[in-house]
Amino acid sequence: MNSFDQSTHSRLAELGQHVLGGGELTRGDARWLFNLTAAADVFDLLAWANRIREHFKGNQIHLCSIVNIKAGGCSENCRFCAQSSTYQTESPRYPLVESEPVLAAANEARANGVTALGLVAAWRGLEEGPVLDEICGLLETLKDTGQARPDASLGIIKNPNVAHRLKQAGLECYNHNLETSSRYFSQICTTHSYQERVETIRHLKQAGLKICSGGILGMGETREDRCELAFALKELGVHVVPINILNPVAGTPFADREPLPPLQILQTIACFRFILPRQEIMIAGGRTVNLRDIQSLIFMAGASALMVGNYLTTLNQPVEKDLQMLKDLGLTPNWDKHGFSDQEQCAQAALAVNP
Ligand code: SF4
Repeated sequence: MNSFDQSTHSRLAELGQHVLGGGELTRGDARWLFNLTAAADVFDLLAWANRIREHFKGNQIHLCSIVNIKAGGCSENCRFCAQSSTYQTESPRYPLVESEPVLAAANEARANGVTALGLVAAWRGLEEGPVLDEICGLLETLKDTGQARPDASLGIIKNPNVAHRLKQAGLECYNHNLETSSRYFSQICTTHSYQERVETIRHLKQAGLKICSGGILGMGETREDRCELAFALKELGVHVVPINILNPVAGTPFADREPLPPLQILQTIACFRFILPRQEIMIAGGRTVNLRDIQSLIFMAGASALMVGNYLTTLNQPVEKDLQMLKDLGLTPNWDKHGFSDQEQCAQAALAVNP
């Protein structure tokens, strides 16, 4: 039996051409893409997402890595997170590190063709005071090495001065994920709100920082929630969109979550590419464990960036394997440390929404 639906095929082609020509998807069209279910239709969707990636992003893939500068013992209760002090997990705990691990990570990043290194801390957020001074020192040290773009993920920021201090210390891009839709957020965390995350992103943008913000798939959200997350990121004008796939950790409330079918993960990445054609879409935590042998299809689904090296609390496949995967696909690592392709368009989109 032929499961290929000609009318779906035609509508996909129409939407794909529309995005390639600079058009934007309506929410209705986007919901339709998220709700496709036949495998043949999803593969058709991937083919269009691949064309859109090639058109707007070319064949170069940004590689990012992270280093945990303060681990575990976080006051927040994000239900997916092994670093929350609310849950009993095997995740390591240590206080704010000195510069050595950061310098070692920078050296390793450079050796692997990684252009951005994010300093990540497990805590609620950052305020003015001695900890901010130490963080600024680490950022200056990383910047002085010239080996990787200094990025960071340091939680909620309520004081605009903090964002300005980070910028002055050499920070270029700040990661702060929305994680999921505003509707579903209270199901994943109750110690802070979705709105606090949005406000943090606004402070960072006003300080002139680039924004890396995305979410986690497979936490029990609906397809509609994923669609809403993509539109929220578009409206905020973020530059990089990390997509994580839940890798359930024993001891957390989400430890028993059923994994998403791999094809649904690829479909979600492709839908994000349709909605966010110019942004870097970066596949981060959980890709190897959830996608297994088909993980190289993330690029056909529209991904243009990859987090390599180990994640915060889980292991990734070796960097050499990722580099070989890119080579086998005819893709190359992007060596531009400061490259945020189409960043002007992202900034303009954000201004149009948040003047
Ligand atoms: S995700 Fe971040 S804020 Fe939430 S518990 Fe983990 S470390 Fe804390």
